[in-house]
Amino acid sequence: MRRPMLAQPCRTSRYRDRKAWPRGTVDSVPTMITPATAASQTPHEAIARVATMIGAGPVLVTSDFDGTLSVPRMDPWAATILPQARRALRELAAMDDVHVAFLSGRTAMDLSTRVRVGGAEYLGNQGLERGRLRRRQAPGSLLVVPHPAPERAWIMSRLLEREVPRYVPEPWLIVEPKGPAVTFHYRGAPDVAAAAVRVADLVERLDPQGDLVRFPGLRSLELRPHGAPAKGESLRSLLDDVRPGIAFMLGDDRTDAAAFQVLRAARDAGEIQGLAIAVGSDAAAIEEARPHADIMFQGPRDAARFLVLLCRLLAAASSVAAQSK
Ligand SMILES: [Mg+2]
Repeated sequence: MRRPMLAQPCRTSRYRDRKAWPRGTVDSVPTMITPATAASQTPHEAIARVATMIGAGPVLVTSDFDGTLSVPRMDPWAATILPQARRALRELAAMDDVHVAFLSGRTAMDLSTRVRVGGAEYLGNQGLERGRLRRRQAPGSLLVVPHPAPERAWIMSRLLEREVPRYVPEPWLIVEPKGPAVTFHYRGAPDVAAAAVRVADLVERLDPQGDLVRFPGLRSLELRPHGAPAKGESLRSLLDDVRPGIAFMLGDDRTDAAAFQVLRAARDAGEIQGLAIAVGSDAAAIEEARPHADIMFQGPRDAARFLVLLCRLLAAASSVAAQSK
């Protein structure tokens, strides 16, 4: 027995009633066609597809942060969430039967203080740590539960955080400490390829036994404990916890592709409906994510627009459900 969503206000909504809803209706259910590769779509085109899913049960909205809800910056510490996305996510998180989660390579605390959406789950370090921020709770007071990691991973991460900048004292090297993991960013280097080789060689010298697993990115090198959950496993745990009828995953790079694959496998198994949405903020990064997604947006502003439209759609569907009681 599916629970109807309760009527909820949606401050972003101009379409509060069913008649005013301009694209699709909550009771038109055309067949969803999944393209062989992710087609570039507008937020309105995507939301027309979502309208066909309404009524399938609770909704889970999971999003990456960097390059998905924020425009990429040279300095990772300068990244900020698009205000439109934050407003929409706050309203979504306040709705009954809508669950919002953030899944990022950043620490959960860093993520929560940048996103600042209450009533949501924060899965930091790709799921190595997790916390739930209550509504109106200060992001800095997020209680973070870490995933167990070997002691040697913690020790090696501290060593690398200290030693790599000592041997590479260039201003372009940015160190992101993440508990038992660490990421070295070099997107600001004049020669990114040379910087990647230099950092990777140094890590090999400092960690010859491979206490940490190397995850080279396009402009960064991440070191993580063996057996640590990544975004695929983390989305799977969210699906198991929330048991949604509809799930969305928004992301922009290869780490998000693993979550896209999990979402699509769950959909293929008949467990959920939903969409894996690649956000094309970086041409090189998106080429690794796009083959695993259902659709692609042109960038974070389209992702934010989609979230606003999703908020409106769910508010309209909720209103219809309440009126039909
Ligand atoms: Mg990203």
